[in-house]
Amino acid sequence: MSVPTVTGSLVVVGTGPGRLELMTPATAAALAHATDLVGYGPYLDRVPLQPGQCRHASDNRRELDRARLALSLAAEGRRVVVVSGGDPGVFAMASAVFEAVEVGEPAWRDLDIRVEPGVTAMLAAAAEVGAPLGGDFCALSLSDNLKSWATIERRLKAAAEADFVIALYNPASRARPAQLGAAFKLLRTIRSGATPILFVRAAGTDQARVIAATLDDADAACADMRTLVIVGASSTRRIGRWIYTPRSERS
Ligand code: SAH
Repeated sequence: MSVPTVTGSLVVVGTGPGRLELMTPATAAALAHATDLVGYGPYLDRVPLQPGQCRHASDNRRELDRARLALSLAAEGRRVVVVSGGDPGVFAMASAVFEAVEVGEPAWRDLDIRVEPGVTAMLAAAAEVGAPLGGDFCALSLSDNLKSWATIERRLKAAAEADFVIALYNPASRARPAQLGAAFKLLRTIRSGATPILFVRAAGTDQARVIAATLDDADAACADMRTLVIVGASSTRRIGRWIYTPRSERS
């Protein structure tokens, strides 16, 4: 009796923050070789069209369904690429794929699965303003779709007390208008009012826009779902039109 061999593959990629030059060549090569692309519609729209390629666009909230579809197609022998924005491992599809593998068909564990790194929003946003991530930093998603607000508050408080630069992903959406305001309120109890707050919208695209504020005057309404918010550390400072965090604490 012959054992069926799995010939399909699944590569999880990120398109980078937007501009095509910020997509890595390895990601572009994986996309060019794919028979099937699976992803949220707007991310698929960033990928140049290839004749004969099937595109499976889905709604933003359906990550696990999307991961299962991608795994089933790979198990049928297709060369599947799952497309995220930014980096696929940062608040994105790579974890959803492994979550689906964990609870899914045993054969999925033998599939040829690969993750390609990409330029995440935090790096593109930092580059727009200078070097705010030059010291120790951490990243936090403010979305409470998959975790409780109590967890978010606990982590934000710990990060603020530890004086990290904090990159806030998913600061706001139409369904969650109040969370960034609540986060600023919490930060004001711990950090100086002079702490730099950067709202970087559409980083790494031709429409990039930066609003620089301080914790005292930061207005949560400046953020939407295409904005990354950077909260400075106590050493983060402005020099001319740039914001940076020195590498050394002796300065
Ligand atoms: N995997 C993505 C992040 C997905 S979470 C990455 O690595 O970048 C979605 C959040 O990322 C958005 O709400 C926003 O906070 C941030 N984001 C994504 N692209 C962005 C961009 N071009 N500019 C600013 N923020 C961005």
